[in-house]
Amino acid sequence: MASVTMKSPFSKLRPNETFSHPTRHSHAATNKAITFFGSKLSRKPLSLAVHTTSRLRPQPVISASAHTFDVVIIGAGIIGLTIARHLLIESDLSVAVVDKAVPCSGATGAGQGYIWMVHKSPESDSWGLAARSQRLWKMFAESVRDQGRDPFELLGWKKNGSLLVGRTHEEAEMLKRKVKQLSEAGLRAEYLSSHDLLSEEPELVVGKDGGAAFLPDDCQIDATRAVATIEKVNQQFASKGRFAGFYHDPVTSIVRYGSNGEAQGVQTSKRTLYSKTIIVAAGSWSGYLLRDLFKGSDIELDVPVRPRKGHLLVLENFSSFSLNHGLMEVGYISHLDIKEPKDSASGLVQHGNALSVSMAATMDTSGRLVLGSSREFAGFNTEVNDFIVSSIWKRAGDYLPKLKGLSLTDITAAQKVRIGLRPYMPDGKPVIGRVPALSNMILATGHEGCGLSLALGTAEMVAHMLLGKPKFADHAAFSVHGRG
Ligand SMILES: Cc1cc2nc3c(=O)[nH]c(=O)nc-3n(C[C@H](O)[C@H](O)[C@H](O)COP(=O)(O)OP(=O)(O)OC[C@H]3O[C@@H](n4cnc5c(N)ncnc54)[C@H](O)[C@@H]3O)c2cc1C
Repeated sequence: MASVTMKSPFSKLRPNETFSHPTRHSHAATNKAITFFGSKLSRKPLSLAVHTTSRLRPQPVISASAHTFDVVIIGAGIIGLTIARHLLIESDLSVAVVDKAVPCSGATGAGQGYIWMVHKSPESDSWGLAARSQRLWKMFAESVRDQGRDPFELLGWKKNGSLLVGRTHEEAEMLKRKVKQLSEAGLRAEYLSSHDLLSEEPELVVGKDGGAAFLPDDCQIDATRAVATIEKVNQQFASKGRFAGFYHDPVTSIVRYGSNGEAQGVQTSKRTLYSKTIIVAAGSWSGYLLRDLFKGSDIELDVPVRPRKGHLLVLENFSSFSLNHGLMEVGYISHLDIKEPKDSASGLVQHGNALSVSMAATMDTSGRLVLGSSREFAGFNTEVNDFIVSSIWKRAGDYLPKLKGLSLTDITAAQKVRIGLRPYMPDGKPVIGRVPALSNMILATGHEGCGLSLALGTAEMVAHMLLGKPKFADHAAFSVHGRG
């Protein structure tokens, strides 16, 4: 089995031996065909293979608290879990996911769920990744449907299109240019005037000068449902020894070994997880975690991922009206670019600044009206701020005036606030690549407000990096080098 308990890891490895991933030819395997969602991911016949031998895998010595896997992933958010899913489906590798809490307890659980292209730019480095990732989400939903299940139920899936809306003449002109640009990039995109919007989205009010960019092919998920389904897919590999989730168990250090100091695994609060590849997908915590992991070592790694706090206001069982599409105000795009303020004298980051609130409204598959969202730099604070909640409510009312007529008592009873820490990178794009001085460690983090959208593309990119497969999206722009 690939997952075994052991005492003295890699004791049989010679210093310069390199790891070769086991293939179905390299080990005796019991192949048993199974079906599971996401089977369209792979063109090869799917099988579960139980690893029985591996040339370089050490002979295990039983111990209560140590295990070995081909890959250990730190972080059970959408990024870590989708990487695990991709590797489990596409390869024969064994995978462990370890989290300091439980799946979906980070930013992922707070996410609004839009998988949109409407607010993205074809000129940005992330465009190809976003387009590929949206395609992979659509394939995932199709594969659920092909297996007789309902993606609406299992993923919170809705292909209901998105509207990027503006209320002034300038914003309308900008949206017309955006539609042209998105159309030229190959997407179905249409400009809707305020008159057109009366029939398309009756509750939305943009004024006579306003309008919207409409992308009918944009879609959304419910992050909690999607994560539960992905976890179920991953767990199907557990009985064959290819998957394990270790939760409520923070990673505290890296195990390094040998003359070249390669990482051989991670130490958690409860166990040692030995592994030939370590993937850091710890969201907002990744920067601090990496600094701690390498403290006092020969490696200096400063990946400037920071938490960017966001509030969402959720109205349960919302029945006052419904939305046909997902909505976002065009100002959201400029709010993304607001930088974390620094003290001009010391150059140090100041927390508690640069608050912005922009309207985003979606209806999820559980009948909730989800209103977003705020952005601010407040360290790791996750307390509810009532001023921000009321600002989100007011902003939503500016676009959906019917909200202003609702009784505040009813709203308070049915409202929930979700708070999450988006993993922010100052240059606005995720970090996906190998750590320069430690080539068997891969980072996948810094997705800020797009982690749900970019998850499946990121997972594919990481898996291809690991398995040496052809790339769908170029990963050079996301490399770790030079991002400090
Ligand atoms: C209000 C809000 C709305 C959003 N809406 C959308 C949206 O509509 N569409 C979209 O695409 N994106 C959206 N996002 C962004 C998206 O949620 C994030 O980009 C994404 O969830 C990041 O996923 P992640 O896996 O990198 O991080 P996380 O989900 O934060 O997961 C990181 C995990 O690492 C674990 N961890 C940390 N330290 C350790 C350690 N030492 N040991 C073990 N585990 C550790 C944490 O416990 C956590 O579970 C939104 C975010 C917010 C806050």
